[in-house]
Amino acid sequence: MKKPTQSDQEPAPKPTGRVPSLLRGMKDTLPTDQPFWNQIIKAVEALAQSYRYERIDTPILEEAWLFNRAVGKEADIVEKEMYQFPDRSNDLIALRPEGTAGVARAYIEHGFVNLPQPVRLYYSGPFFRYDRPQAGRYRQLHQFGFEALGDPHPIIDAQLIAVASRLFSSLGIPVTVQINSIGDATCRPVYVKALADYYRSRKNSICEACKKRLLRNPLRLLDCKEPDCRGLAVDAPQTVDHLCDGCRTHFVSVLEYLDEQEIPYTLNPKIVRGLDYYTRTTFEIYADGDEAASAQSALGGGGRYDGLIEQLGGRPTPGVGFACGIERLVHLMRERGLEPPKPLAPDVFIGQLGDSARKLSLKLFDQLQREGVRVAESLSKDGIKAQLEVADRLGVKYTLIVGQKEMMDGTILVRDMENGIQEVVDIQKVVTEIVKRLTRGQSSGRIEPIPSQPGAEIHAD
Ligand code: AMP
Repeated sequence: MKKPTQSDQEPAPKPTGRVPSLLRGMKDTLPTDQPFWNQIIKAVEALAQSYRYERIDTPILEEAWLFNRAVGKEADIVEKEMYQFPDRSNDLIALRPEGTAGVARAYIEHGFVNLPQPVRLYYSGPFFRYDRPQAGRYRQLHQFGFEALGDPHPIIDAQLIAVASRLFSSLGIPVTVQINSIGDATCRPVYVKALADYYRSRKNSICEACKKRLLRNPLRLLDCKEPDCRGLAVDAPQTVDHLCDGCRTHFVSVLEYLDEQEIPYTLNPKIVRGLDYYTRTTFEIYADGDEAASAQSALGGGGRYDGLIEQLGGRPTPGVGFACGIERLVHLMRERGLEPPKPLAPDVFIGQLGDSARKLSLKLFDQLQREGVRVAESLSKDGIKAQLEVADRLGVKYTLIVGQKEMMDGTILVRDMENGIQEVVDIQKVVTEIVKRLTRGQSSGRIEPIPSQPGAEIHAD
């Protein structure tokens, strides 16, 4: 291979004096956050397994068209918040703002319609919304979600809601589901007309944004956060009073199945969700005792979307799903002192004195790990005192000390950290011996000491 010459190499960039910083609305997930995230994902996986949901991962980038078509051009997360741009081939692409559209696309693309229905899928990952950053609102957010496609039965809605509710309970957060039905293509137009009539006669009292919503999507007036609009929403016509027979029967059945599973819920006629694809059941999930509960603080939400797959060009296929925000959940867990389980401490620490001992320690470390022993070291440190301090801090059961004398004798010093007893063990046998002691300790709850040998002491370099 040709050796790089000076002229091949790029000159080192000059320091600019600028320090890199996070993009606005972005967040690092630090090592201290990870145990929370791991616990949440583990709970999601456990629930998915017991309710037979299978994992799907769809790309972060999709055609912008997909979200325009599925979620609706006028939904906030598309119209105002979607990151979209032409790629290098000038195709308009988007960073996914939500998960259901991608799952629906995959359902069509991979012919999932030919599988036994419902097809139950779950996902987790990053989503992007050019939202106004504030506490708990990020531009890169993470959600997990569950989707059941291909079955119109109301019991599927109720089971899915049970998954969400049980998931939060398993994390120590009891929740209540706020639920509504927004009807379907038969009854919704009648309701929307009644709603529009109600607001039109009060047009002077609604905010500017709602005046636009009145023309484009009157349903959205119900979840406006402006105080005047909120006041008007209290007396607005309610969807449940305008449901057709099919939607009413469906809704009543969902509630009955929730009762049957003892899932706490309350009816909330304002839960319309901002996205075009919802039909019939809509719901949001709130932590019990979250006094400031507002749509801003919902842990998640979802609903039925019976027209979505067809709207995207697939065969008519019903579906229902929900998504929850991970950042918000982590925030709540922290606020409530719900600490995730601590990772298991290592059982063994390897201390060493001298360079040949350091090399041997590398081998020993590897051998112990292969036997499934949780092992720690501090190989860059020289002094045994500093190393023993680390061992103490980690709370290990045994420290193995590889000293110079021991190296020459082919032995290792094993120190029981609980009672301070030190023994000399043959280097060839130390791994088996440690495994034996640790397993014995596990089954009997205590570690049996082996007879102490004379001359067991540490020899410093
Ligand atoms: P949505 O897809 O809008 O129904 O949101 C579902 C859940 O995702 C919400 O209840 C929040 O927990 C979370 N979420 C939505 N937007 C954001 C955001 N900008 N930052 C953090 N979490 C969010």
